[in-house]
Amino acid sequence: MSRGRPDAGFFFARGRLETIRTIAWMKEKARAARQEQRIVGLVPTMGALHAGHLALVERARQECSPVYTSIFLNPKQFSASEDLSRYPRPLEKDMAELKAARVDGLFLPDAAEMYPPGFSTYVQVEGLSERLEGRSRPGHFRGVTTVVLKLLEIVQPNYAYFGRKDAQQAGMVQKMVRDLNLDTEIVLCPIVREEDGLAMSSRNVYLTAEERKAAVVLFKALKAVEEALRSGVLDTARLQKTMRKVLDAEPRAKVDYAEIVDAETFEPVAQVGRRSYTVLAVHVGKTRLIDNLLMESDGDGVRGVL
Ligand code: AMP
Repeated sequence: MSRGRPDAGFFFARGRLETIRTIAWMKEKARAARQEQRIVGLVPTMGALHAGHLALVERARQECSPVYTSIFLNPKQFSASEDLSRYPRPLEKDMAELKAARVDGLFLPDAAEMYPPGFSTYVQVEGLSERLEGRSRPGHFRGVTTVVLKLLEIVQPNYAYFGRKDAQQAGMVQKMVRDLNLDTEIVLCPIVREEDGLAMSSRNVYLTAEERKAAVVLFKALKAVEEALRSGVLDTARLQKTMRKVLDAEPRAKVDYAEIVDAETFEPVAQVGRRSYTVLAVHVGKTRLIDNLLMESDGDGVRGVL
């Protein structure tokens, strides 16, 4: 048994998960940890946790102590026509999972705590926030960057963990951190998938059984791009054709966008570069799903990372 750290498993398995509901208390806890020279990790989520979220927590636990997870269903990133009111909120289950994952505290503010009456300050990453997801969901990214900036200011973590599932969101948060000189390092973690390849998402529960089967088409389309890449195709027009063929063969799928873009700017590229993304947003029934393939070049050419 290691001597450095108390046997956290024992205490956390028996104790209860500390739930922090106020900004003042969250600040105080994180400040005390920083003062003790501890490495503070933050995993921001909107709850309805699945293995994708828990992989972020696990990575954070390897690198930080304490690890805080936030659950905040941020109203500012949903438009009036979106799914805020029916978004799943299985709080008890989430708390049990966070406890089992041994996080040190759950930051669980309500909307009035985060946005008291008169709140009127927003942050926006220009350019990047207007493309792809930003174009399809106007105002969405302004809500995301505003809440993430608030969370990063409240906790001031050394590291904050984001999933590549939301690649554009993560890219934007990284840019915001750079542009505003924040003292947090953003750690980007791989996409966690279901057995058939569908990227895990809190929204997958909206899918009917038939739609759930059809939803695997996103993965199939990305897989087709990956295979074409492996055979040496770098021309994005050709790759896009390959991807469209797969998507168009699924009658339940309606493509919002399917593009190949630079991994920093999210601008379209004609050739797959050093780092690019194939990004997809597809409606399956009433549910909008996103996924992506990271394409990076190493010494041996370009490879795709699903
Ligand atoms: P959300 O609760 O959907 O806002 O997601 C919280 C964090 O979990 C974000 O950084 C997401 O990118 C990440 N995440 C969600 N789904 C996955 C997944 N399937 N694999 C990896 N990370 C994920």
